Amino acid sequence: MDFRLPQQADVAVCGAGPAGLLAAWRLAQSGLSVALLDRRDPWREPVSCAEAVHAQGLLKWAGEIDPAWVRGTVNGVVFVSPNGTRVDYLQPNSGLILDRAEMHRGLAERAVAAGVQVHFRANVQSLESVGSSWVVRGLLDGVSDFSLTVRAVVDASGPGGKLTKGIPGLESLENGSFDLEPAVFTILEGIEFPGDMIELDFGSRLFPGGYGWVFPRSDKSANVGIVIGRDHLSKASPRKLLQQWISERWPNVSVGAFYGGAIACGQSPRALAAKGVFKAGDSASQVNPISRSGIVEAMKGGTLVAKAIAEWLKAPTPEQRKAIESNLLQDWNAVQGEVHDRLGRAKPAFGSIPDHVFDKAARRITNIPLVKRTLPRIFFTTLLGSPSLLWRMRSLMGF
Ligand SMILES: Cc1cc2nc3c(=O)[nH]c(=O)nc-3n(C[C@H](O)[C@H](O)[C@H](O)COP(=O)(O)OP(=O)(O)OC[C@H]3O[C@@H](n4cnc5c(N)ncnc54)[C@H](O)[C@@H]3O)c2cc1C
Repeated sequence: MDFRLPQQADVAVCGAGPAGLLAAWRLAQSGLSVALLDRRDPWREPVSCAEAVHAQGLLKWAGEIDPAWVRGTVNGVVFVSPNGTRVDYLQPNSGLILDRAEMHRGLAERAVAAGVQVHFRANVQSLESVGSSWVVRGLLDGVSDFSLTVRAVVDASGPGGKLTKGIPGLESLENGSFDLEPAVFTILEGIEFPGDMIELDFGSRLFPGGYGWVFPRSDKSANVGIVIGRDHLSKASPRKLLQQWISERWPNVSVGAFYGGAIACGQSPRALAAKGVFKAGDSASQVNPISRSGIVEAMKGGTLVAKAIAEWLKAPTPEQRKAIESNLLQDWNAVQGEVHDRLGRAKPAFGSIPDHVFDKAARRITNIPLVKRTLPRIFFTTLLGSPSLLWRMRSLMGF
């Protein structure tokens, strides 16, 4: 799917994950010339992800869902408390387990059909402001330099946000309010698990400040991983904790390769756009701080950026362009950022719920008939075990 890189375009989109794919596709649909660059094929396996999404969210932001993108349907969650008590929560057809590589390929094909020029071995190394343009420079196929002149740039390069370093007002790894959390996972073959439920495990010993997951991948294999809170990194290695968990829980299973990645939680108060550079997805810290879901969130970010750039390129004055740039944060806040901000403020308390509170809540919830278990009921049963927690999480109630 590679094309010759143009030397000029209206917009360069750097990064072809969910944020960049959506941004490029929607920009081309609005009649702009777009170059979509990634340093690797976005369908290279394994994609660093547990691949679970909210079904309705995906449908809303990605449009029609190709059956090839879907590994399976999620009908609920099994919460596992620190002492191993399992609490089932049913929500039929609420989620999907994706084949993200296939989804990326499908979205790239949609973008190409809309006129996007793609190059998937284009490593972007610098952005330079020249007059009213940006020059995007990098390395093509690992050997030759490229340079592309555009009017606007999308930074959709994933967690860390290094590309925008030095652009005043924009988030970057160096100055950011990032809450970058390490996550590590492996694919386990031949373990017993319900094929239509996702499992989330809690407890300070193995999952400090975060959780463990078992997400079905096929009827024979599961994506098993953990994310831990950033505050716990000095005391715990996510990889060692995952090894420990697997050896205790599935002692006879042979374990293959481990894969890692960073999760960009933390709603930033900084602008999402400045001087014609727009940020979306993990590069803009748009991951849900508690669930750590970021796929649909990145698609939202990419879609909003595409709309903003289409207006920005038409705006006749610098003042109007500046207003569009600063409105982007408000637009994001309206669709998602405010929720993330509230979740982010509750996160330290959520991440420090004592094990005995989880265990007590799990015992109580198992006494509630399955059909009467709702997420708010599960949540409040947990918090009511510790009134001080309820107070520390008051931001969730809008206080
Ligand atoms: C282990 C793990 C499990 C996760 N599980 C889930 C889950 O189950 N559900 C969920 O919703 N979210 C999950 N997430 C979060 C989700 O993966 C991200 O939020 C989502 O991928 C963000 O999309 P993005 O497009 O912003 O960035 P990415 O998907 O990271 O895409 C960025 C792209 O930019 C490219 N790139 C980077 N730098 C350059 C450069 N200099 N030049 C060119 N290209 C570049 C990269 O190659 C990459 O293709 C998980 C994350 C991790 C780490």
